[in-house]
Amino acid sequence: MNKKTISDIDVRNKIVIIRADFNVPLDEAKNITDDRRIVGSIPTIEYVLKNGASKVILMSHLGRPKGTGYEEDFSLKPVAKALKTFLKQDVLMLQDCVGSQVKEQITKSNEKVILLENLRFHKEEEKNDSAFAKELASLANIYVNDAFGTAHRAHASTAGITQYLPSVAGFLIEKELKYLGEAVSNPKRPLTVILGGAKVSDKILLIKNLLTKANCIVIGGGMAYTFLKAQGIKIGNSKLEADKVDTARELLAEAKAKGVEIALTSDFVIAPNFQSDEAKVVDSIPDGWESLDIGPKTRKAYKDILAKAKTIVWNGPLGVFERDAYAKGTREIAEFLAGLKDAVVIVGGGDSAAAVAKFNLEDKMTHISTGGGASLEFLEGKELPGIAALNNK
Ligand code: AMP
Repeated sequence: MNKKTISDIDVRNKIVIIRADFNVPLDEAKNITDDRRIVGSIPTIEYVLKNGASKVILMSHLGRPKGTGYEEDFSLKPVAKALKTFLKQDVLMLQDCVGSQVKEQITKSNEKVILLENLRFHKEEEKNDSAFAKELASLANIYVNDAFGTAHRAHASTAGITQYLPSVAGFLIEKELKYLGEAVSNPKRPLTVILGGAKVSDKILLIKNLLTKANCIVIGGGMAYTFLKAQGIKIGNSKLEADKVDTARELLAEAKAKGVEIALTSDFVIAPNFQSDEAKVVDSIPDGWESLDIGPKTRKAYKDILAKAKTIVWNGPLGVFERDAYAKGTREIAEFLAGLKDAVVIVGGGDSAAAVAKFNLEDKMTHISTGGGASLEFLEGKELPGIAALNNK
């Protein structure tokens, strides 16, 4: 990586402010239902503490508050509690992220770890407001970005702040860039990409970029039907983006011209409607029926392709995996990936990561990204502003 990381700088006796991604899901009682993002932030925090930083200030957003001040529902207090457990030390939770009181509390406190309140209680955060960024910067001597999940957004805490402090990447961002970066720029070949999820329109840029990088693209999930339609195959009431059929046809032609193999769904698990659990396996979709998962022949064909791959990137579920009747395709492919011995398997964040977690296969993948939108934009070949803004080596 050409960006500086915390290993490249001396944090001794410095106040280090870390932008983490603590945007975790909470239940009604404010219990954290998935703490992976907090767990992912611990190595960077511990490293900074072990290397003699005088204080560590942590900041993050949580959810989508209005941006007009404190809202209890979006407070980071549950995160402070979890951090105490993981770090095995006290964490001072502040009531805000900027202002004279915050500054005073940081100066007076003996606590080494301080968590600022939700950045998005201030609308200036998402506007990348420079005065707000400067205020955040004034709390510390060094800035570390370890929030991969928001690295694709230019906000005050991810981009603006780098104007005012030495700015480096944390270990989580370093790890994400290593795995995602190598997968597309220097993969062990063949590189096979599995694409699923609901919509083609979300993945057009991704497919375009992958056509210059991958050896094979396996397409399943809701997006497959627009491609099948483009080939003149009957899709019944399955998910279709009618205005993307021409694009799908063009992408298929481009793949052929570039020698990239495209594998599409060839048999189907259908239902009379989206609500129904009356799952039926068929080779062609009758009128009035909707396909909600890939069938057994398709699962076998995909596995034969994946068995040959040396690098696999997976983005998007292959069926409506949230419902047991239509989870088999996603589950079987996830289990197959989990069993591969020689291949590097990278799972994009978001729904594919949720599917892998649902099937308890997280430990079996090489890398699961912590950022859905960020990993997608990275794989599309876009520059992530939160990373571009960091100091070069
Ligand atoms: P995305 O947000 O684009 O990754 O889409 C994920 C969603 O696509 C999941 O909630 C799946 O239930 C849905 N999905 C996957 N396969 C299908 C399908 N065949 N028809 C409709 N929705 C699907």
